[in-house]
Amino acid sequence: MNLFAERNNRIDTENAFKVGPHIVRVEQNKGSVIKLNLGEPDFSVPSHIKEEIKRQLDLDNTHYCDPKGLLSLRIAISNQINETRNLNTNPEQVVVFPGGKPSIGLAQQVYCEPGDEVIYPSPGFPIYESFIRYVRAVPVPIHLKEESNFTFSPEELEKLITPKTKIIYLNFPSNPTGGVASQKLLEDTARVILERCQNNVRIYSDEIYENIIFDGNKHISISSIPSISDRTIISSGFSKTFAWTGGRIGYAVFPTIEEADYFKTLNINYFSCIPPYNQEAAREALENPLSKEVVQKMVDTFEDRRNIIWQQLNDIDGITCQKPGGAFYLFPNIAGVCEKLDLIEKHNNLPIDQQSSPANLFQMFALYEHQVAVMDRKSFGQIGAEGKHFLRLSIAAETSVLKEGVYRLKNASEDLSGLDRFIKERPDLIST
Ligand code: PLP
Repeated sequence: MNLFAERNNRIDTENAFKVGPHIVRVEQNKGSVIKLNLGEPDFSVPSHIKEEIKRQLDLDNTHYCDPKGLLSLRIAISNQINETRNLNTNPEQVVVFPGGKPSIGLAQQVYCEPGDEVIYPSPGFPIYESFIRYVRAVPVPIHLKEESNFTFSPEELEKLITPKTKIIYLNFPSNPTGGVASQKLLEDTARVILERCQNNVRIYSDEIYENIIFDGNKHISISSIPSISDRTIISSGFSKTFAWTGGRIGYAVFPTIEEADYFKTLNINYFSCIPPYNQEAAREALENPLSKEVVQKMVDTFEDRRNIIWQQLNDIDGITCQKPGGAFYLFPNIAGVCEKLDLIEKHNNLPIDQQSSPANLFQMFALYEHQVAVMDRKSFGQIGAEGKHFLRLSIAAETSVLKEGVYRLKNASEDLSGLDRFIKERPDLIST
């Protein structure tokens, strides 16, 4: 009898968390690392939200509460969703989770039978792909194209839909590419789904970056297209908009109360409830008019950084980078660097158990030899990632730090002898 159940072999992870021990080791041995790997805003939680957390603690609002989420918060969420998406949702359709992440995997548990197919963007947030096989469903990546600024065409989606399709994940603005969807793409997507899917297929629209949009544009949610709203789960949260990743508050709005109640049952089984003092502060974040101004300031800062770093990346020989329309990531193509450093050949010559991807080899080299941490393409969906050479840089740091980080990447992209030494020694393979 094995200690571990077989299903443990069918779940993956989020590498952004796995790279931490490597950074610690480099910092212990060589000094500080520029961390462009993190998916969290480098701002403080706005003070009116912090004040509300403290006030709620002083009120002793620290006990078990409604597993579906406090009604006061669910009302605020439902109101905000109705205003911004032109919908008519009811607070009973809303479920609060510990972050935007849990409902991704829980949705697969609630809706998928073994053999059902799940369509998800690749590159995309790794948790979409990570859970699918755990519930014995079948992963069907829709590959986002660099040429179309990391979106897809309705024809590409149509080809992937079969009678077994059960969930279709969308994520705009996107992690890791910063791609945003046009009204036309969302309308075409809705049309294809209406034509090709039964009405028990669900769109899971992950809109956690909804407020981080550049160039004066506004977020558009597929749920605003009237014909498709009753098949759409809207997911969002407080981690990114309010720089509050440690608060662990996210939510999803379901097409029916019946569906929301299945998720409530899972909440009871897994978490019981979410800290009520944080939930009241999340309500404050939605209702206090001060939030708008603070969030806009953060978004303006991200936009300035995007402009500077996008230009600096495109100035590097061997790198091309699309201009992201939202979120706080840049996703440069490093195919030219792979060529310059002969990374593909060098990667393929590694022992099989040390191979990951040429971009991963470059990521580790840049970290260990040039002290800059980024993520590789394969960290955002493994299926079909071969031959795609990209990195993800987070712009959640001061501009001077970002500039220095990109300068280090440039140095790494020219350091042939350093790469050969690194491959010989592979310090990243030594376990802590
Ligand atoms: N969805 C996407 C697309 C994300 O990028 C993230 C976090 O990086 C999440 C969900 C999860 O957010 P949270 O920290 O609120 O769980």
